[in-house]
This record gives sequence, C-alpha cells and structure tokens, in this order.
Amino acid sequence: MSGQMNMSADTNAEKEATGQEPAIIIRGVHKAFGDLHVLKGIDLEVMPGTVTAILGPSGSGKSTLLRLINQLEDRTAGEIIVGGELTGYKRIGPDGQGLQRLDDKAIARQRARIGMVFQRFNLFPHMTALGNVMEAPVHVGHVPKAQAKEEAIKQLERVGLGDRLDYYPSQLSGGQQQRVAIARALAMHPEIMLFDEPTSALDPELVGEVLAVIKQVAAEGMTMVVVTHEIGFAREVAGQVVFMDGGVVVESGGPDIIDHPESRRFQEFLRTVL
Ligand code: ADP
Ligand code: MG
Repeated sequence: MSGQMNMSADTNAEKEATGQEPAIIIRGVHKAFGDLHVLKGIDLEVMPGTVTAILGPSGSGKSTLLRLINQLEDRTAGEIIVGGELTGYKRIGPDGQGLQRLDDKAIARQRARIGMVFQRFNLFPHMTALGNVMEAPVHVGHVPKAQAKEEAIKQLERVGLGDRLDYYPSQLSGGQQQRVAIARALAMHPEIMLFDEPTSALDPELVGEVLAVIKQVAAEGMTMVVVTHEIGFAREVAGQVVFMDGGVVVESGGPDIIDHPESRRFQEFLRTVL
C-alpha cells in the first residue's frame, strides 16, 4: 500500500514538473456483476506517453478494469477520466454532483480515443490483413477508401507486415495476426492503447515479435496500459507497474517493485510467473 501512496505523490510531482494532466485517472472504481464484487476501489493514474503494466493472478479483475476504461462495461461506482473527460456520464446539477448518462454517440466518440488489443486477435477471417485494418476507418470513421488504404498500408508497415497486405488471417502466424490486430487499432489513431494479455495465446517463439512491436509503439510516445504476464517486458518497458489481486491494487510503483516486491501476495505471484 505504501507503494501506491508513493506513486500518487510521484504523479503529482510529475504533473507539477511537466504541467501535464494524466491521460487516465481512475478514482474509487468498483465493479460488481450481480453479487460478485470484482473491483473493490481502484485508484490509478496514467501519465501521457507512459506505459503502465498491470500484473496479477487470473481472476483479479485486470480485464474488467481495461473494459471499464474502454467503456465495454459500465462501472458500479467511482469515476474514470480519460484525456480530462469524465467517461460515460456528464456532471449535472448546481454543484456538479449529479450524473447523467451520456448518449450513445458521445460514448462512441470517447471510446474512439482508445484502441484495444485482446489476447485473441479477433480478425475478420474473410478479409485480408489490409481489409482488416481498413475496416473501421472506412465503416466507422468514414474515411474515404483510397485514404484508408494508404493509411492501412502505413500501419501494417509500422508493425513489420508491409509484405503481407493481401494475406488472410489463416495464412498468417499467430504473431503476425496479433500484429495485424495492433495495426488495426493504430489505424484509428487512438490517444491510448490498451493491451489485454496480447501474447498469452501465442506459441512461445512468437511472443518476442509482438512484444517488440508494442515496445516500438511505446517508444513512439503512445500512452499504454498493458496487462501482461511477461515480467521481463514489464520491467524493461513499463514506467509504472501495478500488481492487482482480489480486485484491489495491492502494490504499484516503478518497475523496480518487480525486483523488490513488498507484499507477500506480489512476492508469491512473482514466484509463480518468473
Ligand atoms: P483477470 O483478467 O484478472 O483474469 P477478470 O477481470 O477477467 O480477471 O475477471 C475478474 C472476475 O470477474 C472473475 O471472477 C470473472 O469470472 C468475473 N467476471 C468477469 N466478467 C464477468 C461478467 N461479464 N459477468 C460475470 N462475472 C464476470
Ligand atoms: Mg483477463
């Protein structure tokens, strides 16, 4: 817990130094599915252009937290602020204490600021790599086809697949498919990228190429939250490491907390994954 308090002090210091607002603020967030209380008061800040790695055992609420940030689920309590905007609701009433649900269009606009990559690549099987990356810009973003194609080629080149434009998912390795999924998210020009165990479904020999692409996108300045069991990657790439268990942040801080875990639960978790 002391780690978490240090973290917010650091973030405040950072804000004073850089004048930057956090890209994401999560404040007192709870999520329940019926009687199942999955997130029990999460507080977290992510600064622009930084990488936050979320570690934790299965069932600890990591995916649920990402899904709340991206409004794939609605939170039960607390607030999530992305790019300075409260997500999902607008404040109403004289003191701004009341909340009113935003309409679908406003929520879609907020969601468009965030790109998400899942464990399973979820590519359209009947579309080529190029078709998959062009799909959302053309049909959601209403970008003219020729422009979307040019942009999609650029994004596929960015993830090292400039020579696989016309391949179908079934003709690509898992690592290549996941890189297409990353290009597809980037093609919407998100301000923030969320990765939910992006390498967990891959054969071990394909993990490295996907992590390398994520690392490169991070180096280009993208704000990222990455749920991962790749401890080496977290230590190397993340500026902030968060360990969740049982729906709470047990420990958080710089990547050095991986080498010096304070809590028993984090120590035990690291023993199981390292
Ligand atoms: P993690 O990603 O850390 O493995 P999850 O966020 O997926 O954890 O899940 C946390 C808990 O919430 C689990 O017990 C899971 O079964 C439960 N859960 C997740 N999504 C739902 C849902 N849509 N309905 C009911 N329970 C859910
Ligand atoms: Mg998960």
